[in-house]
Amino acid sequence: MPKSAREIVIDYRLCKGCHICISVCPHDVLNKSSEMDNRGFFLPVVVDLKACKVCGLCELECPDFAICVSPDE
Ligand code: SF4
Ligand code: SF4
Repeated sequence: MPKSAREIVIDYRLCKGCHICISVCPHDVLNKSSEMDNRGFFLPVVVDLKACKVCGLCELECPDFAICVSPDE
């Protein structure tokens, strides 16, 4: 059965808006927020949760351990 995600949580206290997660995602699940946060970062947001295949690349490549993907049971 194809995998899907129940939830993708980005810890914005750890995230520094490097966008590595956005660039490694093969399914365009993530994108840059259109609004700058109070530190001047355009943080990533989940734009298409249904497209996530739980490949784990975003978690693996995030240098700050700021993103966590929970698979659908
Ligand atoms: S787990 Fe894979 S498909 Fe899902 S958001 Fe991360 S990189 Fe994209
Ligand atoms: S890779 Fe990690 S630190 Fe970089 S934007 Fe994504 S969640 Fe934030």
